[in-house]
Amino acid sequence: MSTFKAPKGTYDLIPPESATFLAVREAIAAPLRTSGYGYIETPGFENVELFARGVGESTDIVTKEMYAFETKGGDKLALRPEGTASVLRAALEANLHKAGNLPVKLWYSGSYYRYERPQKGRYRHFSQVGAEAIGVEDPAVDAELIILADQAYRSLGLRNFRILLNSLGDRECRPVYRAALQDFLRGLDLDEDTLRRAEINPLRVLDDKRESVQKQLTGAPLLRDYLCDACKTYHEEVRGLLTTAGVAFEDDLKLVRGLDYYTRTTFEFVHDGLGSQSAVGGGGRYDGLSEMIGGPALPSVGWALGVDRTVLALEAEGIELELPAVTSVFAVPLGEEARRVLFAKVTELRKAGIAADFAYGGKGLKAAMKAANRSGARYALVLGERDLADDVVQLKDMDSGEQSAVAIAEVLTELRSRLG
Ligand code: AMP
Repeated sequence: MSTFKAPKGTYDLIPPESATFLAVREAIAAPLRTSGYGYIETPGFENVELFARGVGESTDIVTKEMYAFETKGGDKLALRPEGTASVLRAALEANLHKAGNLPVKLWYSGSYYRYERPQKGRYRHFSQVGAEAIGVEDPAVDAELIILADQAYRSLGLRNFRILLNSLGDRECRPVYRAALQDFLRGLDLDEDTLRRAEINPLRVLDDKRESVQKQLTGAPLLRDYLCDACKTYHEEVRGLLTTAGVAFEDDLKLVRGLDYYTRTTFEFVHDGLGSQSAVGGGGRYDGLSEMIGGPALPSVGWALGVDRTVLALEAEGIELELPAVTSVFAVPLGEEARRVLFAKVTELRKAGIAADFAYGGKGLKAAMKAANRSGARYALVLGERDLADDVVQLKDMDSGEQSAVAIAEVLTELRSRLG
């Protein structure tokens, strides 16, 4: 073992489990690729101001959880705690909103960093796949994104998840509600921290998980009763489109989510087998974010799905993904000439798309067959001196133990037909 360990709150993705992570990323991306979303990659760090303004000065993410630092050159940067602000920054910088169709549809995949108290399902380094549709106010776009996330989870075989849906109103109606909620909160028996939060961002108090707080919130005014007509119509349209698409959801009138920039549609995907860290993904509309970071008015909507938690959800449902074989064929050469011939054969198989590996390190037959076994290969190709003289190779079925001689020139054809 090395003197070093992975930093607290992080873990390494190592084979074979890492293959599941890749498959989850792929499965989430697949519906996006066929729905007009283009891939975007932004740096792992940004100007800290982007997150302070974009995510919100009063959010836990910015005040407590951000890995912010000053570079030797004096730049104030932060490791990205989420994807939306960066993606919007990049889209604006590249003028994507002027260059082509609106909405600009983008998807991304990568690492995110939050200095949180680590526990199962909550890490300091985690992985998300996200999607953003920038520049259009249309309930069908909101519905599209929710449908695509639902499709992604279902394609993985997940069933025990629920979609929570709410509307947070807009610039017209939210301030009225905010004031009413603040009035209500001021009358409660809350600790100082929470009272302060009630002044800065009262909606977030609704999200407080503590029993002592939740108990007092029973009679709190609900945003639904304050939504303006435009927001109501918009939300009904989103709900209708989801229902038509056969995507079930639950109205959650207290769903606010932890970021400041959300307006109107907000949603969360929760999995019932994950304990306290049950959110596998979430998102919503952020009509004001572009202006908050210095851009033009660009109403937008997006989501981010957590890869780590989706993998945990698969485990919770006992789902094992069907993954492509790491090694289908393992080559065992006996002697120098056999080594050259078989190495060329392995290269040929790989070019033809067959997963093949080789007994490196000059192993003897016994050690090499053990390696073949460990590799999980369906077949071993064993080439000895006598086989060489006969221009054949021994093809061994690792499951049944059956072995037969195949002409060296015919190996690819034979394996293609056997592997299907
Ligand atoms: P959020 O931006 O907080 O809505 O996060 C979106 C998704 O990312 C969540 O639903 C989680 O699946 C995942 N996520 C957020 N924070 C963490 C974390 N600290 N560790 C693991 N996954 C996370």
